[in-house]
Amino acid sequence: MIGRVFARCLLLLTLFLAVPVEAGQVAMTFDDLPVYGHFRPIADAEAVTSDLLAGIKRNHWPATGFVNEIQLDAGDRPRRIALLSRWLDAGLDLGNHSYSHVSFTHTPVDAYIADVAKGETVTKGLLAARGRTERWYRHPYLETGPTLVARRRFEGWLAQHGYRVAPVSMENSDWQFADPYDAALARGDRKLAEHIRQDYLDFTARIVPWYRKAATGLLGGEPAFVFLLHASRLNADSIDAIAAILKAQHLRTVTLDQAMKDPAYRIADAYAGPDGDEWVTRWSMTLKKDLPWSSLPQVPAGIVALDAKADPAAAKN
Ligand SMILES: [Zn+2]
Repeated sequence: MIGRVFARCLLLLTLFLAVPVEAGQVAMTFDDLPVYGHFRPIADAEAVTSDLLAGIKRNHWPATGFVNEIQLDAGDRPRRIALLSRWLDAGLDLGNHSYSHVSFTHTPVDAYIADVAKGETVTKGLLAARGRTERWYRHPYLETGPTLVARRRFEGWLAQHGYRVAPVSMENSDWQFADPYDAALARGDRKLAEHIRQDYLDFTARIVPWYRKAATGLLGGEPAFVFLLHASRLNADSIDAIAAILKAQHLRTVTLDQAMKDPAYRIADAYAGPDGDEWVTRWSMTLKKDLPWSSLPQVPAGIVALDAKADPAAAKN
């Protein structure tokens, strides 16, 4: 009994301590919809979507999903389109992530624009049917253009078509953990899968404070973050734990619109080149101030090795 009372007091104390004077803000975004891991069997894609949406709802995240419509062409088209409708019916937003997850660094700008235009065919209609418009674009691999000419040309196209770029200012390399996790589950190795999931959560708990510290040191105040996750089985199985990490870090989830009001997103970003950097790195380049790279948490070597084995093509984002 005493033990139970003590536990309850401890819980109340924890809840009290978890309420910050001023909470930071983070917008949650999910890439590679309908489901990360190209061309999953439809039943699997439906199960991942159900669990993802249930977790997002349970934690009251106002999330935005970014769609690769190429997945709709993998058979079972109406059922795959229905997965996108479910995001909208859950009160969430959808944006364009190009049709085929194309690399801007390795694609001529005209072909790139054509792929992005093809990527709105279905999603735009789903939004319009609900009186809404498709407003956000997320670059695959965060590649914003190999030259300034290509970059500005595409940004002109985006503006003409009513899009805003959805930046990323916090990420946890979830894709590197997601493939080995899927591979372990496919082999029925639940023990390894759980080990990978724990490594993923430990890594997330270390990289979130790194981003907070790095961005705050750079800007002199904490910006509203935009967190990149993927619509994966791993995240479907981890949302409650990620929500707990955000809470412990005094971060409260907001819409992408709300996060983008932060003046940090008006800092000029004129990077042109092959790299797909997130925006904290871009700000550090513009402001010519270093980030604390020496303290950046690293994805465990064992996970990197498993990821290379699970998907030799690798290098996704
Ligand atoms: Zn992606």
